[in-house]
Amino acid sequence: MAALVSGVSQERLQQWKEKASDCIDEAKDNLYALSKDIWRCAELAYEEKQSHDRLVRFFTDEQGWAVESHYKLETAFRATWGPVGGKEGDVVVNVGLLCEYDALPSIGHACGHNLIAEVGAASALGLKGVLESISDCPVRIKVTVLGTPAEEDGGGKIDMILAGAFEGMDVVFMAHPSQEDTPYLPHVAVQDLTVKYHGKASHAAGYPWEGINALDAAVLAYNNLSSAPAGQIPRPTPEIIPLR
Ligand SMILES: [Zn+2]
Repeated sequence: MAALVSGVSQERLQQWKEKASDCIDEAKDNLYALSKDIWRCAELAYEEKQSHDRLVRFFTDEQGWAVESHYKLETAFRATWGPVGGKEGDVVVNVGLLCEYDALPSIGHACGHNLIAEVGAASALGLKGVLESISDCPVRIKVTVLGTPAEEDGGGKIDMILAGAFEGMDVVFMAHPSQEDTPYLPHVAVQDLTVKYHGKASHAAGYPWEGINALDAAVLAYNNLSSAPAGQIPRPTPEIIPLR
């Protein structure tokens, strides 16, 4: 992607953005109907049969997409378009876009996965429209839309990763609705970190100042991290295991 945009003027980038917006605007009624239908189904994790069928129909009705229903999982799908640009035999950059569509028990689409499906589909149409409009694209690009079920429960994407659904994809985009406008999330993943504190033994009565208490260090670290202002650093969820 860097090769695609490097050396491209701001003016041309702006034209591409406008082209993507125009393509999405053209399809807005279809996109709205898609989102509304998925909203009404409000199917739970791994049971998104109607939502799956609706999305498969959406991409089948659009021009140029190769659609695979029930891809890797019963309620997952894949729609691919391209490759275009570059030269025959060039390395293909495979750009992924994700659609989610499962809901929660009792409350339905509380966090708006129908909108994630809509945004994924809209982005696919916008990107396709831009790539079709570039006659001299130096990079060979393909677009892959993955329908990823069971985000609310079960971890459908983990199943899909294990089944190889993400193999060959170079970059993957997804948008999640929020009550805040956050184009850049401060942190989007959880990372385990193991810290071992090593003390130094000394006689507790005779020479306590010679010793180093590993537990004190662990407690101080926890207290300082947990009293940091919320949002400045990720809060730790410590699990302190005394070694001996
Ligand atoms: Zn969600």
